[in-house]
Amino acid sequence: MDIRIGNGYDVHALAPGLPLWLGGVQVESPLGCIAHSDGDVAIHALCDALLGALALGDIGKHFPDTSDEFKGIDSKILLSRVMALIGAEGWNVINADITIAMQKPKLAPYIVPMRECLASLMGIPVSRVSVKATTTEKLGFVGRSEGCEVYAVVLLGKNEELLDS
Ligand code: MG
Repeated sequence: MDIRIGNGYDVHALAPGLPLWLGGVQVESPLGCIAHSDGDVAIHALCDALLGALALGDIGKHFPDTSDEFKGIDSKILLSRVMALIGAEGWNVINADITIAMQKPKLAPYIVPMRECLASLMGIPVSRVSVKATTTEKLGFVGRSEGCEVYAVVLLGKNEELLDS
């Protein structure tokens, strides 16, 4: 069995009047992420974790924010492209664990839809995708609602049997 672990981290600044996308789901919020893409900071961290597991660089290398091709792009497309890269090398995602740090709004109603969306994009059961949300107790830039930060960890495997259980 060959396994690889990857971790990803991303931050976006928040501003009023922008849509907020997290984990492929639109979240009702007066603040959204400032970004070149749709600003889905959770998918960006996940993509970096997936790329990191195989030492394939980072999301900025594959999808530069200077390119018009990626202006306003749906981050689900970026994740699909990253999954294609991983699949081409014969790897499967065993599981993923994502932590979103955001002061508000409460993300509890969106957790299951995010897990379902990400599991579908990664081609794995929902039970293998964890999405957690935390505030930072009003501390720091997250606590002041100036930004949203996300940590992601993934495990990849090369044996298809690993996905059976
Ligand atoms: Mg980003």
